[in-house]
Amino acid sequence: MINISDKIKKASQEAIHLCKKEFEKIEEIKEYNQKKVLEAFIKCGVSESHFTATTGYGYNDRGRDTLDKVYSTAFSTQDALVRHNFVNGTHALTVALFGILRPGDEIISITGTPYDTLKSVIGSESDDEGSLKNFGISFKYVELNKDGTFNYEKIKNAISNKTKAIYIQRSRGYSLRKSLSYKDINDICLFIKKVSKKIIAIVDNCYGEFVEKEEPSCADLMVGSLIKNPGGGIAPTGGYIAGKKEFVNLCSYRLTSPGTGKEVGATLGLNRELFMGTFNSPNVVGEALKTAIFSSALFQILGFDVYPKYNESRHDIIECIVLKDEDLLIKFCQGIQKGSPIDSFVTPQPWDMPGYDSQIIMAAGAFTLGSSIELSADAPVKDPYAVWLQGGTNFYSSKIGIMLAADNILK
Ligand SMILES: *Cc1c(COP(=O)(O)O)cnc(C)c1O
Repeated sequence: MINISDKIKKASQEAIHLCKKEFEKIEEIKEYNQKKVLEAFIKCGVSESHFTATTGYGYNDRGRDTLDKVYSTAFSTQDALVRHNFVNGTHALTVALFGILRPGDEIISITGTPYDTLKSVIGSESDDEGSLKNFGISFKYVELNKDGTFNYEKIKNAISNKTKAIYIQRSRGYSLRKSLSYKDINDICLFIKKVSKKIIAIVDNCYGEFVEKEEPSCADLMVGSLIKNPGGGIAPTGGYIAGKKEFVNLCSYRLTSPGTGKEVGATLGLNRELFMGTFNSPNVVGEALKTAIFSSALFQILGFDVYPKYNESRHDIIECIVLKDEDLLIKFCQGIQKGSPIDSFVTPQPWDMPGYDSQIIMAAGAFTLGSSIELSADAPVKDPYAVWLQGGTNFYSSKIGIMLAADNILK
């Protein structure tokens, strides 16, 4: 029923052959991280009774408190705040920023301009309603070097006594830059502490969790979304903030209210899925990485520019494929959709998404709306006509999706 041309079948076999060594590395990381997560579950004494639903204020929700401990144990941080109440990654990051920053403070992004959805959180000249800017918190950024490394000198010079926090985005986001390793981030955090002990390092860890054997836990706070890596494709919604106890606590005051903080918040029966997703995450992230590596190899064989290459080191789950042509871009996304378990019969089209300066096309046939740990592709319909591909909770299914995308662009 799923028909793939002989040409793509052959190219895929070749791609799989190229990927063998990379896949072995992924298996090793998977095994390491799975042990780490299992140990966190055992150490925290996760029990069936933790799945019980709480309602109302949610006082003494042992499951919620234990899940926080599982995260802080697995991520080697002092504390964590893991909640379904975070509506997405942007919300968790917003809570972290407003939790930490006060009027008069300055924050510096040292990975260039942050992810698109954060622009309105930071605020601009024309629109600052409710933003950090609106609260008298200023923002500036330092670009990464051309080779994707930190510009230590510029960072040092940008820091003043107004600087309260440094912001680091681990993932490439929707750019062609490299993602940052946990080690790159830990190193820069140590450097920043040397410049000033008081500066708080906040890491946008979206798409980075369990990609390497360690997390960037030298940072004061790490933030992410549960419909990406750490939710394991099972968490139906949510986000997390993990890091130093005093800062996680400040964030909890912002999420709920000062005084009550982490002590409240009914979990409504979602604990089981949040635990299960966390438990499965190392394996699922490995599947997504294999999907990225395979697509990189396949499209390289087909003659396209790919970022990163199949054998380059990875610190997030994203693969960027430069198709250089509008028609190919649309066909790629339509091919991915055809190979999705949900809504396979839908034909994605470019549309004018609010907040973007070009049309956007997206492919996603996911069990959870907007879940990008499941196989998905997004692309702004503009030069260089590149598609950002991520996710794949199940390599063999995702591989078919990628092959259908490849087949579709050959047509
Ligand atoms: C996904 C993502 C976010 C948050 O986006 P949401 O769609 O709100 O979850 C922030 N930063 C990066 C780098 C991301 O990939």
